Amino acid sequence: MTQETGGFAAFNLNPNILAAVIATGYEEPSAIQQQSIPIIMAGQDMIGQAQTGTGKTAAFALPILHCIDPAKREPQALILAPTRELALQVATAFETYAKQMPGVTVVAVYGGAPMGPQLKAIRNGAQIVVATPGRLCDHLRRDEKVLSTVNHLVLDEADEMLKLGFMDDLEVIFKALPATRQTVLFSATLPQSIRAIAERHLRDPQHVKIQTKTQTVTAIEQAHLLVHADQKTSAVLSLLEVEDFDALIMFVRTKQATLDLASALEAKGYKAAALNGDIAQNQRERVIESLKDGRLDIVVATDVAARGLDVPRITHVFNVDMPYDPESYVHRIGRTGRAGREGRALLLVTPRERRMLQVIERVTGQKVAEVRLPDAQAVLDARIKKLTNSLSPLVGDAESTHGDLLDRLTADIGCSPRALAAALLRKATNGQALTLDAIEKERPLVPNNAPRGDRPERTGDRPDRGDRERRAPVALAEGRARCRTALGARDGIAAKNLLGAILNEGGLAREAIGRIQVRDSFSLVELPEDGLEKLLTKLKDTRVAGKQLKLRRYRED
Ligand code: AMP
Repeated sequence: MTQETGGFAAFNLNPNILAAVIATGYEEPSAIQQQSIPIIMAGQDMIGQAQTGTGKTAAFALPILHCIDPAKREPQALILAPTRELALQVATAFETYAKQMPGVTVVAVYGGAPMGPQLKAIRNGAQIVVATPGRLCDHLRRDEKVLSTVNHLVLDEADEMLKLGFMDDLEVIFKALPATRQTVLFSATLPQSIRAIAERHLRDPQHVKIQTKTQTVTAIEQAHLLVHADQKTSAVLSLLEVEDFDALIMFVRTKQATLDLASALEAKGYKAAALNGDIAQNQRERVIESLKDGRLDIVVATDVAARGLDVPRITHVFNVDMPYDPESYVHRIGRTGRAGREGRALLLVTPRERRMLQVIERVTGQKVAEVRLPDAQAVLDARIKKLTNSLSPLVGDAESTHGDLLDRLTADIGCSPRALAAALLRKATNGQALTLDAIEKERPLVPNNAPRGDRPERTGDRPDRGDRERRAPVALAEGRARCRTALGARDGIAAKNLLGAILNEGGLAREAIGRIQVRDSFSLVELPEDGLEKLLTKLKDTRVAGKQLKLRRYRED
């Protein structure tokens, strides 16, 4: 156990939960976790003011898991979330933290899926029920006793639930729960309507709020990029192509992420290393020394491991994962712009984290401008510029030393000097793509557009609201058709899995497959219009990650 994990150890959580937290790679509790976990563990009611990105899910999930009795096969905790998407995320988080607690089961209850299996899972003794209010009320109408054993209630994103019109449903649910239960309410904002709920339904609640002091940031140019979580690595690689950096630090949340990203960077030829709390102190010092003297250019770190890191060479900070709070953001980006130099800070924002971006802007009093991923032309220009910069100092008197050799080689090979120079360039650039076409093909999974608008804002789960995840905004290239599968990120699918399956089983050339977009609960793939029906038949029985692909033509409406 690292010293940092002591942060979590100090809560005295059930050892199986602590073990799962360590396995997840968290190094220390976030501010909201630090304050909420002891209160919830003690069984008290609580109001937590925190938004997505602060670590609020673990702030209630860990103590709730601690409080339940795995031996009792009945619902003990109910978590209400405004949307199906959030309910699934929360359920997955519970499953992760309960991985080493045999006998604990979690059920997600939301609209748009059959009711029978959900009710069965509850009756079969799932201890944790994560639900959207609308669907849960449908269940209560069928069986009003279904929640009678619940003694912990969490309202997650309570303000969003009210915005979506779930007030009446909440009242029905409160009535169906034992009056003696513990109630915890999380909300990003605390308007009067939320306070009224707290007054009526919480008993002597403790208030937890993450203080956001105004922070000043100077000499650092800040920007953000909207990106889906599963495309962060490819986005980082694209950004690196065009950013003119000397040394760079990237922040991620977990130890595993430091290792994964550092090895992805190394694979692309960057001098990169990971820095996390599991790495021994003397090794960490070596990494920092290497960054200082240029043996390394990029360090991928967790907040804990980067504490006190002061390297004047750092020109850029990439916040690959969102910091938990504005203070930590300011702290991170302060790693650049040292000693009066200019620095640049980039923040990757997933659609769900936009609110956190607004908080950062408010607290720092600065707008964090949006940037887009560089397109193929920008990447090409940057590569040519780098090539020019690396070759121009070599031209000097090269002709006087190597000119005769050039004559001899062209004569021996029987080619023109231009052909020979081109061959040498190819060798020198290690086959790197240096035409627009080749670059386009090299970056098939990175969309040219950030995900603005191609991801739904939060929606309720009422059947009449329909599936608002159905949106696919990006224009299709001529001759391409868009196809959809119900497999998505939550099934453990990444774009490369879909690509592999379609290439192998569809017998297509790589170029025939266009953009692949993996969303939480579905994915879209662009395929050639020509011969599409045949291809779909061919892929009829294809399985990806153990599940049927069931690719269908997708029509936008
Ligand atoms: P949330 O605010 O609950 O949506 O959490 C945001 C993200 O932070 C999730 O991906 C969590 O897995 C991650 N996370 C939560 N707590 C920690 C922690 N203490 N250390 C590192 N990552 C965390």
